[in-house]
Amino acid sequence: MKLETRSVVKRYGAFHALDKASFQTGDDARVVVLLGPSGGGKSTMLRVLGGLLVPEEGSVLVDEEELPHEAEGALRVLRQNGFVFQGYNLFPHLTALQNVTLPLTAVHGQTETAARQRAVELLTRLGLAEHMRKRPAELSGGQQQRAAIARALASKPRLLLLDEPTSALDPVMTGEVLDVIRELVQEGQQIVLATHELSFARQIADWVVFLAKGSVFESCPAVKFFDDPTSSFAKDYLTAVTKYR
Ligand code: ADP
Repeated sequence: MKLETRSVVKRYGAFHALDKASFQTGDDARVVVLLGPSGGGKSTMLRVLGGLLVPEEGSVLVDEEELPHEAEGALRVLRQNGFVFQGYNLFPHLTALQNVTLPLTAVHGQTETAARQRAVELLTRLGLAEHMRKRPAELSGGQQQRAAIARALASKPRLLLLDEPTSALDPVMTGEVLDVIRELVQEGQQIVLATHELSFARQIADWVVFLAKGSVFESCPAVKFFDDPTSSFAKDYLTAVTKYR
């Protein structure tokens, strides 16, 4: 995939979460990782790229095609993509299986049988075969996050957008979720990931976009970013994160 933003502005009230943010990836970046300090705009950028938020100004292009600004077009783009957030966002009153089937029947118009078949296949692949009839409260954090990934993958998304998917997890559960993401990358899933997991980002990213204060300070192949970042912001960030890990 190729991602591009041109002078994107996203405001919350008077505050500019993205302030004329521009970048362009290479043509075939399969895993784009958004890095940067907290509050820098990663999460907002991820939502804008996936069509969950429409910017007030500027344009967003996925594979050279501009994302629509009007509501109906934006919804169409949103439905092509899958999101996973930090806090799982599973429905607490539904089982893991029901959490995965519901969007397929309610949003994507699949039959109950087809949705169930797809959900069972995915949950099994993500190691949840024995847990699919449990509700979120009966699952560990790592299992809940894997169920959330299954739900996001169920409709075969064009882009899978992961917003700090491991930040609420302990190291063991983090490892489980990172293994799942690594497998998806190997299968060719196109991924946009906002994370603080630098060593993981280094292993899987093709391209890094570094954001701070709502602007893009660096957009380059991952190898270049980790070996020889250009901006002083990125250099300081890498030094600080490495020092405290
Ligand atoms: P990051 O993911 O890098 O931590 P975010 O995109 O979440 O950054 O946030 C960027 C800025 O926008 C932050 O200063 C944050 O407080 C602000 N922000 C994010 N979401 C909202 C919101 N819904 N309402 C008001 N301010 C927000």
